[in-house]
Amino acid sequence: MLKAAFPGSFDPPTSGHINIIQRAASIFEELVVVIAENKQKKYLFSAEERASMISELIKDKKNVSVTICDSLIVDYLKKEKIKLLLRGVRGLEDFSYEFELSMMNRTLDPDIETIFMTTDPEYFVIRSSSIKELASFNGNLSGMVPPLVAKALKNKYTNM
Ligand code: ADP
Repeated sequence: MLKAAFPGSFDPPTSGHINIIQRAASIFEELVVVIAENKQKKYLFSAEERASMISELIKDKKNVSVTICDSLIVDYLKKEKIKLLLRGVRGLEDFSYEFELSMMNRTLDPDIETIFMTTDPEYFVIRSSSIKELASFNGNLSGMVPPLVAKALKNKYTNM
C-alpha cells in the first residue's frame, strides 16, 4: 500500500501546500497531512485551527486525512507504519534545507524514504511566512491562499 505522510507547519496552509496535497493524492493510495505542533515554535494559528482549515480544503479527497503531531516525525511514522515522507520544494534553497532534513531523518530511521515533489511554477514564490507578513499589512492574498484562509488571516490580524 502506497501510504505517505506530508508533514509541515501549515501556518497557514497556502495554495502551494494544497497543490502538493492534490497532486500527491492522485499518486499515493493514502496521504496523511501531519500538522506539526512544536512547543518551541510560535504559531499564528493553533494546531486545531490549521488542521480544521486543511480538512475543509481537502474534504473532497477521500484518501487524504489530517492529523496533529507533537512528536518527532520519524517517531510518528514508525508508530503509524508509514515509510514515505513527502516534502515540497520550491527551489535550490528549499532543496538544500530539505536534503539535510532528509539525511537527518534517515539517520534517525533508515527505513524512511523522503520523496520530493517540485512546486507548480505558479506557487513558486508562495511561503507561509510571506503570506503572514502580507496579511498583516492587509495585502491582497488572492491566488496565494484559498479564500477561507484569507478570511481566517483577516480575522486574526483585525483582532490582534
Ligand atoms: P516547514 O514548517 O517545514 O517550514 P511548511 O509547513 O511551510 O514547512 O511546508 C510544509 C511542506 O510544504 C514543506 O516541504 C515545504 O517545502 C512545502 N511547501 C511550502 N510551500 C510550498 C509551495 N509554495 N510549493 C510547494 N511546496 C511548498
